[in-house]
Amino acid sequence: MGFQITPEEYVDYIVLAGEEIEKNGEYVTELDAKTGDGDHWVNLNTGFQKLISMQKELKGMELASMLNRIGMTLMSAIGGSSGILYGSGYLAASKALKETKVLDIDTLYTFLQTELTAIMERGKAKPGWKTMIDSLYEAVEAYRAAREEGQDERQVIEALRRGAAEGRDHTREMEAVKGRASYQTNKGVGELDPGAVTMCIQLECLSDYIIKHKL
Ligand code: ADP
Ligand code: MG
Repeated sequence: MGFQITPEEYVDYIVLAGEEIEKNGEYVTELDAKTGDGDHWVNLNTGFQKLISMQKELKGMELASMLNRIGMTLMSAIGGSSGILYGSGYLAASKALKETKVLDIDTLYTFLQTELTAIMERGKAKPGWKTMIDSLYEAVEAYRAAREEGQDERQVIEALRRGAAEGRDHTREMEAVKGRASYQTNKGVGELDPGAVTMCIQLECLSDYIIKHKL
């Protein structure tokens, strides 16, 4: 049998991701000060710290209700675009996984793919536009490709991790089409997108959690 992440374990991942986001405050804020309005880290960190404070309550929930609660919390706790975008991603995932009890190699893919589609729709943005979408998109594509090639679960999750980092790194040379970096004369070229950096942190934490505890 392959890996399975229970809702309770997903909350453990959220706590780890929140801790990692917390540690990257200075770095992300500096980046966002160059290309945005400097509040992305404060926004996201507020949301994750709120989730951490709710971990006991979240751990008592079924998967779909937990994802819904996470989405609603992020939407209300995070100011700025990222609150609405992450909120939409989690709410869509909650709907898509209504009948699902645990995240395995199939349902985790559904989760990430659904989150990606929801964020793209809500943000009216596409891959290549220098946003958080780029980390998630390349992660999902690498996940899909590794599965299609028949790679084992560890290789698939390693591909997910690598795809997220590549997507983040590719934002350096991209011109921003949406979001605040698009108002700059150089469209943010030469700098990583802060939202892609924090999306990548979450996807790396998730991959590391699975590799360390499940594979
Ligand atoms: P705001 O743009 O309101 O200042 P945040 O500071 O919370 O929002 O987040 C900024 C990040 O959100 C950007 O770095 C980018 O990754 C992402 N972002 C902004 N607008 C969009 C959009 N329309 N679609 C997808 N991602 C976006
Ligand atoms: Mg901002």
